[in-house]
Amino acid sequence: MIFIFHWFVSVFFQTAFLHRYASHKMFTTGKLREKIFHFMTWLSQGPSYLVPRAYAVMHRMHHEFSDTDKDPHSPHFFKDVISMMVKTKEIYAGFANDKISVASKYYHDLPVWKTFESFADHFLTRVGWAIIYIAIYLLLIIKLDLSYFWLLLLPIHFLMGPIHGAIVNWCGHKYGYRNFKSTDESRNTEPFGILLMGELFQNNHHKFPASANFAKKWFEFDPTYSILVVLHYVGIIKLIKTKN
Ligand SMILES: [Zn+2]
Ligand SMILES: [Zn+2]
Repeated sequence: MIFIFHWFVSVFFQTAFLHRYASHKMFTTGKLREKIFHFMTWLSQGPSYLVPRAYAVMHRMHHEFSDTDKDPHSPHFFKDVISMMVKTKEIYAGFANDKISVASKYYHDLPVWKTFESFADHFLTRVGWAIIYIAIYLLLIIKLDLSYFWLLLLPIHFLMGPIHGAIVNWCGHKYGYRNFKSTDESRNTEPFGILLMGELFQNNHHKFPASANFAKKWFEFDPTYSILVVLHYVGIIKLIKTKN
C-alpha cells in the first residue's frame, strides 16, 4: 500500500510540476502556490528529489533534439536502460550544479528557489530521507509481523524520480503505437501509461508539446489532466488553452 501510494504521488508531482509546469508551462499559478508545488514535489520524491529548473532545461533539450545524438536521453543511443540513466544523471547534475550551460532560450520562466534547492538537494537531506524510509519499513515489518522481504522495495523508493523518468524515456521512445508521424521515435506505450499517469503518451505529447491533455483519441485517458482540470476549476491553477 505504501509503495503504491508513494509511486502515484511521486509520479503525479513529477508529471504535473516538473514536466507540465516547470518544463512546458501548460498552466500558470501564483508564486506562493508554485513554491507549495515545489515543496510537495520534494516531499513526494524525497531522496530522489529532482531540482525543477535542471529537469526543465534538460527536458526542453529533449524536445528540441528528440532521438538525435543531442537528446540527453534517447534510448536509441544506449545499449541498456542503466547506461541511459547514468548519462542522464550526469547531464542533469551538470544543470543542477550550474556546471553545464546551454543557450539562453532553455532558461526562460523557470521555477527557481535557490535557498530551498540547496537544502533539498543536499546529500545529508537525501540520507535523512533514506533513514526515514528504512525506519518506516522496519517499524511496519515489526509491528505487523511482515516478511523482511519487503525491504527489497526500498531501493525503488530511494530512486523513485529517476526510475519514473527512465521508464518514460525508454519505453515512450521505443514501445507502443503512434497516432502521429514524427521525425523522432516517440510512441504511446499503452495500456501501461496509467501507471505513469499519462506520461507514456509520448507520441501525442511530442506532437502537441504545449497541450496539457496527453490523451488525443477517444480510447485514451490521461489521469493527470483530469486532476489538473479539477485544480483549474477550484482556482488553484489556470490551464493554458491550446487548439489541440
Ligand atoms: Zn519524449
Ligand atoms: Zn515534454
